[in-house]
Order: sequence, then C-alpha cells, then structure tokens
Amino acid sequence: MKASVRKRLENVVPHPRYGKWIRTSDSKVDVDAINRTRRFERGEVFMETAIPADVTRQKPSVFQRVVYFDVLKICRTCGRDFIFYAEEQRFWYEELMFYLWSSAVDCCECRQDAQQLRKRNERFTQFSNAMASELLDDDSLVQFVEDAIFFWQERILIKRQKLNRIKNLSHRRLPDHPVTLKIEQFTRVLDQHCNAKNA
Ligand SMILES: [Zn+2]
Repeated sequence: MKASVRKRLENVVPHPRYGKWIRTSDSKVDVDAINRTRRFERGEVFMETAIPADVTRQKPSVFQRVVYFDVLKICRTCGRDFIFYAEEQRFWYEELMFYLWSSAVDCCECRQDAQQLRKRNERFTQFSNAMASELLDDDSLVQFVEDAIFFWQERILIKRQKLNRIKNLSHRRLPDHPVTLKIEQFTRVLDQHCNAKNA
C-alpha cells in the first residue's frame, strides 16, 4: 500500500457498522470480475477486500456489479476521506435495490446511518407511488421534493425525467413554497452544469 493511501486511511470518518479501516476478505474473486466492476467506482480500490455479489438480487442492468470492494473516497460535503465498504454496497444494491450506477458521495456522518437511509428510501418509493396516483398531500409533497434532491445528490435517483416531474408537480401545487424555489434552483444549476460540459 502506498504511504499516501495509508495516511488517508488512518484518518477516515469511522463508520458505525463497518469501522475505520479496510476489511480484508478471504473470498476468492477473480481479477477479471474486479476489473469489470471498477467502472462503477472512482477512488482508491482495495482488491484484497473484494467479496462476490449476488447479481440476481440487484436491479437488472446492462453492467452488473459482480463483486464489491472497499473504496476510499472523499466526502463531497465535509471533504474528509471515507470508505464505501463492500458490505455496505451489498446492502445498497441487494437490499435497498439502488441503481447500480448510484454510489456514496458523502461520508456516513454527512449522510445518515443505514437504517435511516433505508426508511427514507422506503418513504421515497411510497411518495413516488402516491405521485403516480395523485394522492400526495402537501406536507408529503414537501418532504418528497427534499428527498428527491437528497437522492439526486447521492446519485440514488438518476432519472432526470423523474426529477423534472417532481419539480413540475411542486411548481403546480406549491408555487410559492420555499421547497419549490429550492428544486427549481437545483435543476437550474444542473442544467447550467450540463450545458457547460457540452459547450
Ligand atoms: Zn462528510
């Protein structure tokens, strides 16, 4: 391990469930499987932590995450190093059924613990269903918009169409509410970012 990586590992934000160091695994996973999965994660990857995935439990996708491995990343919110653990990934993609391209961008302190994340995800699914059948009350709609922004930032919500639908609903139902201004501002910044990239 490079000294610079070791130094970063020594200062990671501790994870309440998985600790504060990479977790070496005894699983036999082949290098090819690891290489095929690397595309999903930017950051320092630790081959020795790899565990096999059960792709039948994941959301269907052209590319599957065939293994999980600990990844050293930098928290977008607080700037500290954190580990997105292999076990945590299994939870995300096999239990919570998150999109395979989604990935942790915040450390666990800046995020929430897994339990809260699970609850929030369940609530988001309920709101999505209620939106489809037009049964969402105003308080729920406010929460739904907040959740949509949060899940977009976490790269859990990745369908722009859905984000736009939520924004439009908020605009129609709660035109003067701060949350509407918030999501409008949020999508405006996304558009600018997109246009800048394509220019
Ligand atoms: Zn953080």
